[in-house]
Amino acid sequence: MRFINQEDNSNLITRLDNIVKDDKISHAYIFEGSACIDKKAFAESFIKGILCSRNLGENCGNCNICSKVDHDNHEDIIYISAEGGSIKDADIIEMQDKLKTKPFGERNIVVISDCDTMTVRAQNRLLKTLEEPPGKSVIILLSENIENLVQTIQSRCVKYRINYFGSENYDFMFDKAAKVADMILNRQPFYKVKKEVDDIMGSSEETAAFLDGLQVVFRNMLIEKTKGISLYKNDDIINNIHAVETARKQIKEGVSTAYAMKNLLLKIGG
Ligand SMILES: [Zn+2]
Repeated sequence: MRFINQEDNSNLITRLDNIVKDDKISHAYIFEGSACIDKKAFAESFIKGILCSRNLGENCGNCNICSKVDHDNHEDIIYISAEGGSIKDADIIEMQDKLKTKPFGERNIVVISDCDTMTVRAQNRLLKTLEEPPGKSVIILLSENIENLVQTIQSRCVKYRINYFGSENYDFMFDKAAKVADMILNRQPFYKVKKEVDDIMGSSEETAAFLDGLQVVFRNMLIEKTKGISLYKNDDIINNIHAVETARKQIKEGVSTAYAMKNLLLKIGG
């Protein structure tokens, strides 16, 4: 199948290829990936692979079905995204009603963008659908941060992480994030930490990659913590993960990167 970010995700794409070719399509998936990845486009490549009738498992990109998916007007696909900051109970009720209707083709497909903004009520309601998915329906959740989803939802979905510019830039940002995380947890003075991140405050892609890296570093620390091999306090690490999340949200909502980053550094350094 053809995908965006093809080179960075060759293993994942091979897996998705096989899922379709072997007809092992599950009822629910979570695609997790940073804000700068077009996760919807990625999911739609997978959906075209599922629905396109030319060569099993191929998303030809030319047929009527592929074209409808590309234009967001395929009759069997239900799109949900956050309105006013969150996905609400009512959105899920509406989706469940639509899922009760028969698809024109073989299956109904639901795509939930920003799924980590679902209210707890909405999540609990969605859980019912995940427990008893109607017919051959497929539900795809797109997430920036899977941590915001209740465990019961996570455990009912096949989870994949989408990488992006997997190349040098990402590695560089990841190393930088690891270094900054260490500096912060070792209580290095604010001006030193700020100096370290000053040069990445320019481009939004780089900032997103840095925040991504920072979150992964902190999450790994939590995992290490449970194995008893981290010296840092659990509360500190969890607070830091939340602070990173806040910075991402602020940037997404249009707050200036410089402000959001400074705010972040003050919070996690304090
Ligand atoms: Zn096609």
